[in-house]
Amino acid sequence: MSYVDEVIEQVIKQNPAEPEFHQAVKEVLESLRVVVEANEEKFRKDALLERLVNPERQFKFRVPWVDDKGQVQVNTGYRVQFNSAIGPYKGGLRLHPSVNLGIIKFLGFEQIFKNSLTGLPIGGGKGGSDFDPKGKSDREVMAFCQSFMTELCKYIGADTDVPAGDIGTGAREIGFMFGQYKRIRGVYEGVLTGKGLSYGGSLARTEATGYGLLYITEEMLKCNGQDIAGKTVAVSGSGNVAIYATQKAQQLGAKVVTVSDSTGWVYDPDGIDVAALKEIKEVNRARLTEYKKYRPNSEYHEGKGVWSAKVDIALPCATQNELDIEDAKTLVANGVLAVCEGANMPTTLEATEYLQKNGVYFVPGKAANAGGVATSALEMSQNSERLSWSFEEVDSKLKGIMVNIFHNLDSAAKKYGFDGNYVVGANIAGFEKVVDAMNAQGIV
Ligand code: NDP
Repeated sequence: MSYVDEVIEQVIKQNPAEPEFHQAVKEVLESLRVVVEANEEKFRKDALLERLVNPERQFKFRVPWVDDKGQVQVNTGYRVQFNSAIGPYKGGLRLHPSVNLGIIKFLGFEQIFKNSLTGLPIGGGKGGSDFDPKGKSDREVMAFCQSFMTELCKYIGADTDVPAGDIGTGAREIGFMFGQYKRIRGVYEGVLTGKGLSYGGSLARTEATGYGLLYITEEMLKCNGQDIAGKTVAVSGSGNVAIYATQKAQQLGAKVVTVSDSTGWVYDPDGIDVAALKEIKEVNRARLTEYKKYRPNSEYHEGKGVWSAKVDIALPCATQNELDIEDAKTLVANGVLAVCEGANMPTTLEATEYLQKNGVYFVPGKAANAGGVATSALEMSQNSERLSWSFEEVDSKLKGIMVNIFHNLDSAAKKYGFDGNYVVGANIAGFEKVVDAMNAQGIV
């Protein structure tokens, strides 16, 4: 059996009931086959892949807090410190009822390669909890965040592990967590990114993932002789990534006709009204059913279906495995040109293969949504320097990073004979730097 197959089999056996982690490992290792086979003897002897798929360390802890009725609630908290070969662990904190160890491990594993692709010195990690901030009062969210950080603060620090936001963790949650870290540890340092501007946050961090997604999409299309201006776009999700992806797509001259949330989706033939979307989601924290009040011409549909709209470009920006084989078939039948992932692993393996086989340009999340973590790393630099850069400065660095990521993965794909396969390109480009650093640092 080949080394890659052996390690995939081992991962499935040693990490039962973690399907998302298996999926992420399979996707990465399958596409690294060509590089691994060229170095099989050395990698095997050094157990390089075994070290790569086993987190350096992982924490699971109790998070007790008191709700508004005086009832004690108990959630589970996680932090997985996956790989620190190229820098301190960096990766977000997801707060969602679906969170479990397998989900955090899949995200942490992906994060290693994503962070490497940015070209910045950051290792891979991820964390979160099964706490659901939806429907909770601000006081309840604060109680949870303080309890979560009371435990987490033992394992993180500005030079060791720097968490950030993710699903369910926005500016409010980061603020509460930062306050508690400072109170317990007694240091004012850049231990979290995605902070508010008044206490060490970076301009353009809020916009970074969505904007970065569009910068890489624009560059990829340009290099394939296409222009993003004039294209019709489907976006899924209506959170941080989706909102700013929609905004930047419109600034670049494209028309975004859909957004969604976990209960339904909106089709607006005239193009999504970003100001209305922000008011509904960022200010009122309401559901998308509200959108029709702002735009009577739009349609609201219950349930799934966002990928049935006829579009040139699809940008999944909600969650993992939200675009399956049936969706991929519909998109292809409707003539889709490109799928670029704003979310982490939103496309199933089967759907990804189908899209690629049918000539759809496909940019995987670990490259396409790397703008968020890249700008988090820029926030870390500003915190270390005790300086704040202007919006334009951060945005132009972000654009440079995204354009560079595209060229790196495009060249890696070409170098190994997979021209146009950006999944293989992204995995190889991310992997090479990490492996080089791991080799240099000995067996640790
Ligand atoms: P938010 O919490 O701001 O928004 C998430 C959106 O996705 C919401 O519209 C939510 O709908 C929807 N959603 C969440 N879970 C599900 C589900 N199970 N089924 C259907 N819809 C769902 O998160 P972000 O925008 O920050 O993150 C979105 C994705 O992007 C995630 O995969 C995240 O890991 C990834 N990402 C985020 C980065 C960032 O900087 N924020 C950086 C890189 C990647 P509802 O409100 O109904 O729950």
